[in-house]
Amino acid sequence: MDNKKLAGLLFPHIDKTPDYYEELYPERGLAEGARVTRFAPSPTGYLHIGGLFGALVDVLTAQATKGVSYLRIEDTDKKREIDDGVSAIINGFDYFGVEFTEGVTGFGTEKGAYGPYTQSQRAEIYQTVAKSLVEKGLAYPCFCTADELADLRKEQEKGDALIWGYFGKWAKCRDLTLEQIESNLAEGKPWVLRLRSGGSDGKIIFDDVIRGKIEMPENIIDEVLLKSDGIPTYHFAHACDDHFMRTTHVIRGEEWISSVPKHIELFKACGYKVPKYAHTPQVLKIDEETGDKRKLSKRKDPEAAVGYFVEGGFPKESVLEYLLTLINSNFEDWRRANPRADISEFPFNLKKMSSSGCLFDLVKLNDVSKNVISVMSAAQVYENVAEWAKVYDPEFCALFTADPVFSTAAVNIDRENPKPRKDIAKWSEVKDYFSYLYKELYTADYTLPENISKADAAAIAEKYIGEFSLADDKDQWFARIKDMCEPLGFTPNVKEYKKNPDAFKGHVGDVSTVIRIALTSRRNTPDLYSIMNLLGENEIKARLSEAVESWK
Ligand code: GLU
Repeated sequence: MDNKKLAGLLFPHIDKTPDYYEELYPERGLAEGARVTRFAPSPTGYLHIGGLFGALVDVLTAQATKGVSYLRIEDTDKKREIDDGVSAIINGFDYFGVEFTEGVTGFGTEKGAYGPYTQSQRAEIYQTVAKSLVEKGLAYPCFCTADELADLRKEQEKGDALIWGYFGKWAKCRDLTLEQIESNLAEGKPWVLRLRSGGSDGKIIFDDVIRGKIEMPENIIDEVLLKSDGIPTYHFAHACDDHFMRTTHVIRGEEWISSVPKHIELFKACGYKVPKYAHTPQVLKIDEETGDKRKLSKRKDPEAAVGYFVEGGFPKESVLEYLLTLINSNFEDWRRANPRADISEFPFNLKKMSSSGCLFDLVKLNDVSKNVISVMSAAQVYENVAEWAKVYDPEFCALFTADPVFSTAAVNIDRENPKPRKDIAKWSEVKDYFSYLYKELYTADYTLPENISKADAAAIAEKYIGEFSLADDKDQWFARIKDMCEPLGFTPNVKEYKKNPDAFKGHVGDVSTVIRIALTSRRNTPDLYSIMNLLGENEIKARLSEAVESWK
């Protein structure tokens, strides 16, 4: 077979050789140990939390080794693509502040010298490499129709073959003569380009950075490299792109492990150095119905989409922090030792990733987020709440931002101290959390705990109207509440009450609860002294009187 002639027949329009691209995309010349990673999504839907997880691993790996991370859009499957798929991915990363060194930065924009970073713009590169494979006798055109392939499959299913697909004796077009090919081309028959696999019954062993040594059977399938429209398959594009973009570490989901033999053969056929592979675990959850672990599903689980966290108002820091606890087993220890450090300072290590599935647990995320929010400054919280509400709750935004000094003071209650309160997990909770501070949101509810009678509550609230003073400091404020106890039949001393409960109606805690309920309609709030200072004298008096009325 005159392979050169065949290559010319199949790719008459290709006038470059792979060497041209070798020069165009030279070795990166990075320092020893620097890693080049990539995140390579297909724009087929929203950004999945597993995608954010993967991208974070890419970016952190590059950051920790002073390497390069880049974003490549894999849009070779036009059937599955959605219109704003690229924007959905980019916006997702923007929100979470995940920044790649190179690659696609927006719709039609990119940065870096190894582009284009969108596969649909790289047809010439793939076809140049494909042509060179044909020249070397390592690829051939296949004219089989969909029906013929379906028949082949049926035949294989009848037998007891362990492997199905286009290979060996099944590969009808493998040994077509040049004349046959020429006549098929002359008839205008569509063709795909297939790899002429050199695999047999041997094994390949590769060292997965996360999973260690993996042994698998060699690939024997004559995989499709270019589809009939000249667009590459994922496998072929992966080899060409990761070579010319000089990727050192292919970090991707574990669902790709089974394709590694194919990929290694492809890299070798092209004469490329095989990159290191790191297959990350899947993001799992416990199924509410069965109690079993399963993959997060786009269809069933709203939290599979990063938009869920954006809309719910989880700060990006919380989501990233939580993902890091899943990504590296030593992250939580590092966090305890460095409570206020930025996560970019975390010495990330791919080898410390677990190879089994990561359990995504919303309850844990909530806890992590409460911690993250608790150490934010009041100004930061104010800004974040205002920004979130502007988009997702404009009415509350108007209320919250009408008096920034007041609202900042509100969110500052029990904050900016060594033991901040950890109540808020997401910005959407703030409205309800502070509803008693805003007249427009407040609805009174004077339900009392069972151990306090309405008559006692009315007596406490009534007395307090005449007692409280906003001029008090916090100690005086509390001393005043204690002083009210005895005349009302309560004790200021909790220990004393516990020793002799029948001697009193209750203790100072109960008195405070009554005042709290009268002022906020809640049994539990942050520091009541601060709340009273925000409510102001008139409002306090009005609420106390109203409570007295309702209890009388
Ligand atoms: N486009 C592939 C996907 O979205 C990328 C796989 C890879 O990272 O190599 O699954």
